Amino acid sequence: MNYENSLSFARRLDQKDPLKKYRKEFHIPVVNGKPSIYLCGNSLGLEPRRTRRFLLEELEDWAKLGVEGHLHGRRPWLYYHHFTKKPLAKLVGAKPSEVVAMNQLTVNLHLMLTTFYRPDKKRFKIITEAGAFSSDQYAVESQLRLHGIHPEDALVELSPRNGEHYLRTSDILQAISDEAGQLALVLFGGVQYYSGQFFDLKAITSAAHAAGAMAGFDLAHAVGNVPLALHRDEVDFAVWCSYKYLNSGPGSVAGAFVHERHADGNLPRMAGWWGHYERDRFKMKKGFIAMPGVDGWQLSNFPILTGAAHLASLEIFSEVGMPALRRKSVQLTGYLSFLLDEIDPGGKHYTVITPRDASARGCQLSILMNHQRGKRVFDALTRRGVIADWREPDVIRVAPVPLYNTFEDVHRFATLLAESL
Ligand SMILES: *Cc1c(COP(=O)(O)O)cnc(C)c1O
Repeated sequence: MNYENSLSFARRLDQKDPLKKYRKEFHIPVVNGKPSIYLCGNSLGLEPRRTRRFLLEELEDWAKLGVEGHLHGRRPWLYYHHFTKKPLAKLVGAKPSEVVAMNQLTVNLHLMLTTFYRPDKKRFKIITEAGAFSSDQYAVESQLRLHGIHPEDALVELSPRNGEHYLRTSDILQAISDEAGQLALVLFGGVQYYSGQFFDLKAITSAAHAAGAMAGFDLAHAVGNVPLALHRDEVDFAVWCSYKYLNSGPGSVAGAFVHERHADGNLPRMAGWWGHYERDRFKMKKGFIAMPGVDGWQLSNFPILTGAAHLASLEIFSEVGMPALRRKSVQLTGYLSFLLDEIDPGGKHYTVITPRDASARGCQLSILMNHQRGKRVFDALTRRGVIADWREPDVIRVAPVPLYNTFEDVHRFATLLAESL
């Protein structure tokens, strides 16, 4: 598409946007008495207007029915996680039996690592991207230590080449095959939280399998942002949170995927009663029998209140569908990328460290500020109504989200950035 650096052009794109009505489905935070330019959906997605109704319905059922809500609520609490399965399966490209909403992201990562990282003398190494989200680093290192392994002896962290800002897929695949003999697990982000790079899940998974290792992904920044095909790509496991692009509210219930080839219930795991065979769950008998599929990894009864918010948001994703979202997302982020080039053509002030190729990124662009003034520029933007995200030491992350951001948002952001430089 041929873009133009003008407000009227941005507004024309908004008028033609087939998803434009969805902005009205969200509460846009107000700054200085005006709707903010909210570019932080990669950190906390906005509140859908319908979320309140979903929550009130559960509060009402609880008030009216008490414990009977488990069976007689309008969405019976006992089976609540089932209601999330279809929309989640669609979002990540899986079968309903392969996905479940449960716990929190880091908890789910630990649950999956406990099952899928079982090192022996020969195979014990883990490959990840260097600079992974802190919680993921802590989870992996602590799992290694639980097995009596020093992280330095087993953790292979891949960095971009000198002078480059993101990993080349060919380098990732090479590293995996180089470690083939000792490799137990490849664990990557889906979209890297810092650089915004969308990794090639299919290529990484098949390289891991060729090396005799498992492949798992943390999709915190990928789910609801980029198209995923976990089943077809033969990913072994994946985990995600729901409060970023999935707009399900702060600390809301997270999710997990386990490929159906691991579904038979024989894999060792941390167990709890909600993973026990559903029909017999309330017999409270000795002897855990895992539900088939990922449901067998559930521990606790479902968190209905955050789950209600999750359902409200998933309903929107089901209405819109990832293909339409992705189409707009590529245009919207493409427009941001075009404007960033326009403002600073020589790259004097900043470098965009996210891949240029739309198929290797989601909606986020990470802007590396070249001078010491980065934080001052960011603060100036904040004062003028931009809500974005600052990552020490020098990166501004901006994520125009196709469900609620507009081309006008992107143009106004770019204009304010140019003025702040
Ligand atoms: C947001 C995020 C987290 C946060 O973990 P919680 O358990 O939800 O607090 C962890 N890892 C990644 C990659 C993230 O993007």
